[in-house]
Amino acid sequence: MLKKGSKLYSILTGTCPRCQKESMYQDKNLLHLSNIIKMKENCSHCGLKYQIEPSFFYGAMYVSYGLNVAIGILTFIIVFQFDRSMLTSFISIMVVLILSFPLVMRLSRNIYINLFVSYKPDLKS
Ligand SMILES: [Zn+2]
Repeated sequence: MLKKGSKLYSILTGTCPRCQKESMYQDKNLLHLSNIIKMKENCSHCGLKYQIEPSFFYGAMYVSYGLNVAIGILTFIIVFQFDRSMLTSFISIMVVLILSFPLVMRLSRNIYINLFVSYKPDLKS
């Protein structure tokens, strides 16, 4: 289902969007919170510079915002089915957003760089 060459593969695995041969991150583990956004400078296979321009990944904040809103709405819909209290929904949304924070940080960066770089496995720079 998840085959190499699709943007979804690069987004979900955090691999280089151009060659998809190696991870863009120095530390693959999401639980090492201090290393979440530490990325390599270049891809060692195709040479793609991940920081395309200075402060490139600031744009990932907009993607992150969208993801967080989607997660919040989804959590609200699920929790509201079981308990019609607004306070419970609010607390649930906060807990889910805090727990999903490392994943959202990575996913938003992966989605953002995949908007600009396409899969070209033979390209060397
Ligand atoms: Zn690469």
